Amino acid sequence: MKISIKDITSLPDQSKKFTGSIDICDFSYLGSDFSINHIEPFDVVLSMIGSGKLHITFDTKCSILGHCDRCLGDVTFEVPVSVDETVEVSEGQVVTDDDIGPYSFVDGEEINIDELILNEILVNFPAKILCQDDCKGICPVCGKNRNIEPCGCDDTVLDPRMAQFLDVFNSFKEVK
Ligand SMILES: [Zn+2]
Ligand SMILES: [Zn+2]
Repeated sequence: MKISIKDITSLPDQSKKFTGSIDICDFSYLGSDFSINHIEPFDVVLSMIGSGKLHITFDTKCSILGHCDRCLGDVTFEVPVSVDETVEVSEGQVVTDDDIGPYSFVDGEEINIDELILNEILVNFPAKILCQDDCKGICPVCGKNRNIEPCGCDDTVLDPRMAQFLDVFNSFKEVK
């Protein structure tokens, strides 16, 4: 969603509350695709600090569907979103910060809430996405999901002369 700041910026020291929502559903991060399944209901609060600063705050939580880093199976995980931004305003417009340049979440006289949420999701993104802590992943040799059934391949085999010997060795391991 986008929220116009036109009205609030002419009301020094006032606050306005908006029922939050998100329009985007899918996004990519580091080459993988994710979808936002659910977002907890939230209110966006815009407050003027004096007449020159705008404070934007909201808190919510997103439930995101992605894929396990090891086996590529579906994984749903939660990411907290906590936005607390203060920008300078002048004549109903956000003033571009000299050091960091234009804000990605400002679009003319509008605040882009989707962009703020997405920024927060990426900041709080889990370092690893796993379907289970001990996910065994996909066998690089035969391509089977090793969580479903052990395939018995040895993915360290490089020398074909060793392969036969290791096949025997693996069949012993499986018997145990
Ligand atoms: Zn997995
Ligand atoms: Zn295998």
